[in-house]
Amino acid sequence: MNKRWRNAGLYALMVVILIFLATTVLDRQPQTTASWPYSQFIDKVEAGQVEKVNISADRSRAQVMTGDGQRVLVNLPPDPQLLNTLQTNSVDIAVSPTTEDSPWVRVLSTLLIPFLLLVVLFFVLRRAQSGPGSQAMNFGKSRARVQMEPQTQITFGDVAGIEQAKLELAEVVDFLKNADRFTAVGAKIPKGVLLVGPPGTGKTLLAKAVAGEAGVPFFSISGSEFVEMFVGVGASRVRDLFEQAKANAPCIVFIDEIDAVGRQRGAGLGGGNDEREQTLNQLLTEMDGFEGNTGIIIIAATNRPDVLDAALLRPGRFDRQVVVDRPDYAGRLEILNVHARGKTLSQDVDLEKIARRTPGFTGADLANLLNEAAILAARRNLTEVSMDEVNDAIDRVMAGPEKKDRVMSEKRKSLVAFHEAGHALVGALMPDYDPVQKISIIPRGQAGGLTWFTPSEDRMDSGLYSRSYLQNQMAVALGGRIAEELIFGEEEVTTGASNDLQQVARVARQMVTRFGMSDRLGPVALGRAQGGMFLGRDIMAERDFSEETAAAIDDEVRNLVDQAYRRAKSVLMENRSVLDTLAAMLVERETVDSEELQDLLATSDVKMATIA
Ligand code: ADP
Ligand code: MG
Ligand code: ZN
Repeated sequence: MNKRWRNAGLYALMVVILIFLATTVLDRQPQTTASWPYSQFIDKVEAGQVEKVNISADRSRAQVMTGDGQRVLVNLPPDPQLLNTLQTNSVDIAVSPTTEDSPWVRVLSTLLIPFLLLVVLFFVLRRAQSGPGSQAMNFGKSRARVQMEPQTQITFGDVAGIEQAKLELAEVVDFLKNADRFTAVGAKIPKGVLLVGPPGTGKTLLAKAVAGEAGVPFFSISGSEFVEMFVGVGASRVRDLFEQAKANAPCIVFIDEIDAVGRQRGAGLGGGNDEREQTLNQLLTEMDGFEGNTGIIIIAATNRPDVLDAALLRPGRFDRQVVVDRPDYAGRLEILNVHARGKTLSQDVDLEKIARRTPGFTGADLANLLNEAAILAARRNLTEVSMDEVNDAIDRVMAGPEKKDRVMSEKRKSLVAFHEAGHALVGALMPDYDPVQKISIIPRGQAGGLTWFTPSEDRMDSGLYSRSYLQNQMAVALGGRIAEELIFGEEEVTTGASNDLQQVARVARQMVTRFGMSDRLGPVALGRAQGGMFLGRDIMAERDFSEETAAAIDDEVRNLVDQAYRRAKSVLMENRSVLDTLAAMLVERETVDSEELQDLLATSDVKMATIA
């Protein structure tokens, strides 16, 4: 059954149950709550405290009303003296004419109303279901999730750190504001702009800002909502959307997650999705349908431009693409400035420092970060947000909240301390590796402890990693496990290093098969790049090499890992006393930051690692 009908059914059931409860309660209310034994009843009658008695038709029970308005139930034995006693004490006597108290009648009358309701509902549902298709569509339409904001109130001032994208969209604002000028010289205004970028980089915000700057209404709908609709509804929803847009032109139509409808047709698992294709076709028809400068500009957003159907990207459709990328240092600083507005920050909060610590954060991450810090400050009963809250918030956003309540035995604490100290020390003593940002043995998320490194901006931007960097990375990842071995012996190593080992294996394999960094196999890429399961294109990586090559790959991977292992081990053995000191610091303070580590290294006699 369709989800929506199931919901309607559940809803109806809930209503029925509520009515049932309500009628039961109402039915009970005038009845007595307390009951008396017969002897007490007679005592009360003789004491003159009973005003009225209502006896059931079968004479087995009575409802008693006392002088002070209380209602009490009494079970009556066959007492021939009863009427007499009541009369002598001048109690009003009534006898119920019907068998009102028969439990059967009560139950049936209570159930009758809900039963009738159920029957009615049943017929309503039946009719709706078997009715013509248009009924279902009307149902869909009535709950249309096309959202319209007459004024978004958002301007380019609210969007920071993505200057290039803003620049390109400023043009669109111009089109919307001065359509006549462009029409006069015969210029065709673009119909569609595709915003491409990872989640949280501000695509929705940017689209709203365009509408806000141009002062036009903002219509929005999300691609994923089309897909979950009834058959035929997606397409009708698109028609609907454009009807509304035309009636409100000039305006912006924003389609979020367009990849959900706009995937390559005929691709994907489990055969094509007719519903999606119909929706996509309708979208293309609508886009081709409005001629010239109608004043509707469609902005779509996606983080998967590679899966989009080529038809969407043809001229006259989404022929403009604007990349909205993660902000760099300067961009992050600007975004922080935007979101620091309206928050009470104390003097010591240094936005530049925050921007330095957060490479890879998106605008949404940064907004979230400052908000978390503010929440922490409020929870700590502070009037201002200080750098402490910001630092805690950064850790939280990066790695999930700390699990402070988890009690750690001394043994475990020391083990985690040596593990993390191992990572940190190997990292700090490798030439050409990222600086250590912070070491912590407070468990968070899945991790028992964590060592943060600050990735260099260059490397993040270019995405290029040198061979020596990758070798160092493997050594650092192995450092945790090796420290455990050195201190507690091979018997005592824990499963805590399983993530580290996975990372090492992955890096080594990529170096051999994808980056051509193996001496023995040379600069070849082996096996096709692995496509994600839901790309809709190649489903699995195919092997295009022989058994011997496969064996050679395994050998080379092994060699790389062994080499990294030896390097890390020798660094840790040669700097054993520093390792001990660092672990002791961690056990005592739980976190050690980059300055404290630098101090330690500067005052100790350290030996750098050899170059691989
Ligand atoms: P996307 O649509 O790309 O996933 P959103 O536009 O929904 O991202 O961003 C979510 C929130 O993150 C915004 O409402 C805003 O508060 C913040 N944000 C994201 N990018 C920026 C930015 N460049 N400048 C200012 N705030 C941003
Ligand atoms: Mg969005
Ligand atoms: Zn580890």
